[in-house]
Amino acid sequence: MSWSKHRIFLIVFILLFSVELFAFSQGIICIKPLLLSLFLYSILLALASYFVGMRFYIPMINHLPNTYKGQKYIVLTFDDGPNPNSTKALLELLERHEVKANFFLIGKHIEEHADLAKELHTRGHLLGNHSYSHTGFFPISSTKKLRREIEKTNKLLEAISLKKNTYFRPPFGVTNPLIAKVVKDLNMKTIGWSLRSYDTVKSKTQLIQKLKSNLRDGDIVLMHDIESSLDVVEKFIEYAKENGYQFVLLSEFFEKK
Ligand SMILES: [Zn+2]
Repeated sequence: MSWSKHRIFLIVFILLFSVELFAFSQGIICIKPLLLSLFLYSILLALASYFVGMRFYIPMINHLPNTYKGQKYIVLTFDDGPNPNSTKALLELLERHEVKANFFLIGKHIEEHADLAKELHTRGHLLGNHSYSHTGFFPISSTKKLRREIEKTNKLLEAISLKKNTYFRPPFGVTNPLIAKVVKDLNMKTIGWSLRSYDTVKSKTQLIQKLKSNLRDGDIVLMHDIESSLDVVEKFIEYAKENGYQFVLLSEFFEKK
């Protein structure tokens, strides 16, 4: 059984807290160390929810396997589509540069723009699950609700690809023990990232610069299927190709042939 970092930290915390509690009951220490431990543990739990790189709750895939280091393979991922304002243009751009990408789609967007979702698949891009509603409440939903969100989108994806979907990217990159349980029960792979574009907030010049200076072999690059990132995507692809990087699909590394 592989233990998540969360489980290991929980056991360590319970042991330390029990010792402190005993010391407190014997009058050896005051209550402050207990409160401090609780406070620090809460901070750790909150930070771990937001930083995918910590892989705290879920053994998330943030990078291609090390065995491929030096091969200059990178994975381009787009979240939040399909989007009537950008998906078509993005598809044409990718076709022009002969790049295949990985799209983490929102279930309700698939229902609203089924033709775009189908086109992504027929043009050879990989589709994955990015929840059904992508609401801000997703990370604080019950196990039942989380399961419903993920299963509903899996059904929509599977109707298009005619095969089981195993790829999941949590909305906002947030994870917690309940999401970890549902993903494990559904036997899915959670995909994070090693290079985040911040294409929803940063200026285009800053973005390109950041992507160029931080790009490394095996990176999984997070972008969004939005109109404003089209220029950035094109410049990024041109830079990566000029520097010998090859774009690959997750299925080439994480599915048995
Ligand atoms: Zn998203």
